[in-house]
Amino acid sequence: MKKVTLHDKTFALSIPYSDIQQAIEKIAAQINKDTVGETPIFVCLLNGAFMFAADLLKLIEMPAEVSFIKYSSYAGTQSVGEVSELIGLNTDLKGRTVIVIEDIIDTGLTINKLLKDLQPKELKRVKIATLLFKPEAFKGDYVIDYVGMSIPNDFIVGYGLDYNELGRNLKDIYTLVQ
Ligand code: 5GP
Repeated sequence: MKKVTLHDKTFALSIPYSDIQQAIEKIAAQINKDTVGETPIFVCLLNGAFMFAADLLKLIEMPAEVSFIKYSSYAGTQSVGEVSELIGLNTDLKGRTVIVIEDIIDTGLTINKLLKDLQPKELKRVKIATLLFKPEAFKGDYVIDYVGMSIPNDFIVGYGLDYNELGRNLKDIYTLVQ
C-alpha cells in the first residue's frame, strides 16, 4: 500500500483519485439538475476545499459565480471546537441561491457557523455540498444536500486536506496510520 510521511506522521492511501472523481461527478449531476435556470453563487471554504471546488466547478453547466470564505477550527489532527472567521464574504447574497463547497464535514461546527453568518443575508436558499462526511463525528442538526462519500472517523490528508499545512497537494486521499 502506498504511504506518505508528513512531519512526524505516516499516512496510507485510502481513497484514490478515480473514486474522488466519481463522487464529484455524482454531486455535479445533482447540482446541475437542482439549479436549472438559476445563477447560483458557489461559496468555497478555504483552504481545504480548493481542489474539490476546482474539479466540481468545471462540471457545473449553468452560469455561476464563485466566492471564498475562510474559517479555522483545526490545529494538528484535532478539531479545537471553536470556529473563527479569517476571510469573510463581501458579496451581496440577497435573493441568491448559495451552494457551499466544503471538503469534509466532521463535527459540523464550521458549516453551523457559516449557516448562522448567512442567516441575516436574506438568501433565496442555501445548499451544502461536501466531498467527504464523517457521520460518527457529526453533531449538526441541518441537512447536508450533497455528500460525495461517507468515511470513518479517521484523520485524512490529501486532495486539499492538510496535516499542519502539508499534504494539500496530494492527488489521492491518505489516512493516518495508527
Ligand atoms: P468541522 O467543523 O465539521 O468539525 O470540520 C470541518 C473542517 O475541519 C474541514 O473543513 C477540514 O478543514 C477540517 N477537517 C475535518 N476532518 C479532517 C480530517 O480528517 N483531516 C483534515 N486534514 N482536516 C479535517
